[in-house]
Amino acid sequence: MTELVQILRDKRDLPDKGLVELLETDNQSLVEELKECARETAIESFGKEVFLRGLIEWSNVCRNDCLYCGIRCSNANIQRYTLTREQILSCCELAYSSGIRTFVLQGGENPSSAQNLVPVVAEIHASWPDSAITLSLGELPFELYEKLRIAGADRYLLRHETANPVHYAMLHPITMGQGTRLKCLYQLRELCYQTGMGMMVGSPFQKTEYLVEDIRLIQMFRPEMIGIGPFIPHKDTKFADFPAGSAELTMRLYSILRLMLPKANIPSTTALSSVLPDGRIKGILAGANVIMPNFTPPQYRDAYSLYEGKSADPLEEVQKELSAEGYFTRPNRGDYNN
Ligand code: SF4
Repeated sequence: MTELVQILRDKRDLPDKGLVELLETDNQSLVEELKECARETAIESFGKEVFLRGLIEWSNVCRNDCLYCGIRCSNANIQRYTLTREQILSCCELAYSSGIRTFVLQGGENPSSAQNLVPVVAEIHASWPDSAITLSLGELPFELYEKLRIAGADRYLLRHETANPVHYAMLHPITMGQGTRLKCLYQLRELCYQTGMGMMVGSPFQKTEYLVEDIRLIQMFRPEMIGIGPFIPHKDTKFADFPAGSAELTMRLYSILRLMLPKANIPSTTALSSVLPDGRIKGILAGANVIMPNFTPPQYRDAYSLYEGKSADPLEEVQKELSAEGYFTRPNRGDYNN
């Protein structure tokens, strides 16, 4: 085995120079070795089970104006929606009957509507007590994170997007600060949420050294979940003409982070399968262990356009792909288990 991969596997760490080499190398056999080693590590942690999360895109209303995002508040070209309590519960019912035991409620950042989710989260928790609830609703006041946690939410995903403050400022309006994002992550941890962070790969102006900073931040925070996907341009943003991020680089990051944090839950993201037709399974073979089929009512999916060309990830197709590679799913919450 190449020394770099061996050190990363054995020490769960690598100097910056080694990380840069793994991220930039053209040596395909080194890349294959990295992925294989990450795949074996994932199998040691989870066997050949892949955890399923049922994604419910609850609302595309957002108060923020992130420069890369299709549902940013200044985009007047999309139809805004927010699912009702009844719609959310029927998504959960469908997901549960399909064998899903984690519901992921994801939406734009909108504290007043998120407040209305507190009783809905409590109802989901009471109706399906053997299932986990993950939220991804952006930066909210501590008191609201706390109410949602008490209502029954178990996990919270808040991507940091980039660890480099200068890069963060290039991707976000001046009203958004990286410090707030990080403060929220620590608050979520304080409330004992299983916490997730992550970034876009290939976002405008990104450099390899920024990705190394991302890796270091993740390594330091040790999140229970790591959400990483390639940047995909959206026509209604100022980055419309920028190229999409690399699927290959995204998978290398899954592999590196799998070797650093063997028990972390790492989804093979929808964004990856949107840029690479067999991306879902390739992400799993590179060390990811989670897939998130979409249970949003079909009539709203196009309006939840964070980026364009979003893959649908239908459950039956996901299961067929997984079983062809000897992987399986089962009704399981798939909690972080160190
Ligand atoms: S990335 Fe998130 S917070 Fe930013 S505009 Fe899009 S939905 Fe809102």
